[in-house]
Amino acid sequence: MRVIVGAAPRGVEGARPGGDLLCVVRALLKKIRRRVLVGDRVLIGAVDWAGGRGVIEGVFERRAEVADPPVANVDRLVLLFALDQPQPEPATLTRFLVDAESTGIPFVLVFNKVELVDDKTISYWRDRMKSWGYDPLFLSVDQKSGLSALEETLEGQTTVIVGPSGVGKSSLINALRSNQNISEEDPIHKLVEQNSKWFGEQRVGTVSKKSGKGKHTTRHVSLLPIAGGGFLADTPGFNQPSLMKVTKKGLAETFPEIRKMLAENEPSKCLFNDCVHLGERGCVVKGDWERYPYYLQLLDEIKIRESFQ
Ligand code: GDP
Ligand code: ZN
Repeated sequence: MRVIVGAAPRGVEGARPGGDLLCVVRALLKKIRRRVLVGDRVLIGAVDWAGGRGVIEGVFERRAEVADPPVANVDRLVLLFALDQPQPEPATLTRFLVDAESTGIPFVLVFNKVELVDDKTISYWRDRMKSWGYDPLFLSVDQKSGLSALEETLEGQTTVIVGPSGVGKSSLINALRSNQNISEEDPIHKLVEQNSKWFGEQRVGTVSKKSGKGKHTTRHVSLLPIAGGGFLADTPGFNQPSLMKVTKKGLAETFPEIRKMLAENEPSKCLFNDCVHLGERGCVVKGDWERYPYYLQLLDEIKIRESFQ
């Protein structure tokens, strides 16, 4: 059963009886600033089954939360890149990987547009990612090849796709949903489309009024059912990783290479507890790996941010 959050405009029928519920959020929840997100597990009361309406009385604790797009209880991220148009940039890849690692949500790294490159290029990226500690999937949304391996990974999960612009995120969402027969005629789909301004919980991105461009960007997120059970956010996620959740101390843990070096040195650790692996005395992390310069760059960036906090 789907729960749609929002007050229906006057004259609009309720949700599909017996199926979906159109719910308003209990005023008390709003007072304590408990936002209801797409993907939340909620407690519903005052249900009018015939009219398809209810009231959200409570929100259960979230397992994980993604801010952009706002979705709760996300089980998996898909980090999507393209092998060409645009070519993968190691620095950008690293930013996305670090950001994804910092969410604590399991993710799968995927390279799209394989048909644009030769086999040598594919194995080059496979090997390079392996040396970083990752085992990516390769596919072509256009050619519909390699999609089933991804679909298997997403079975039964709630997934958000993230990645830089132009890599094929929207195309992938469409490809994954096309296996389903979600009809444009679906009454709830229509209701959401026509009345998205009513779905205030999902309004994001306010631009300053002073700038003259000032307008609310209204965007609604919904979860699409996908093959094998599970859901996919219908809107791609962040394409500018903020790294806001990454701390100076936590950065090292977002690099598999460092995790490996530390694990290999068990039980001995770096001499200093707060070692950030910059060649301090007694540090067990060496500097002879490809992404070490990126680690240093990001560490600088985070240090600067933290000094302003
Ligand atoms: P987004 O910005 O990440 O959402 O990317 P889009 O889904 O809008 O795709 C960007 C462009 O890449 C579009 O022109 C797509 O048709 C194209 N594209 C998507 N998948 C593939 C693919 O597998 N191969 C090729 N050659 N182009 C693709
Ligand atoms: Zn160290």
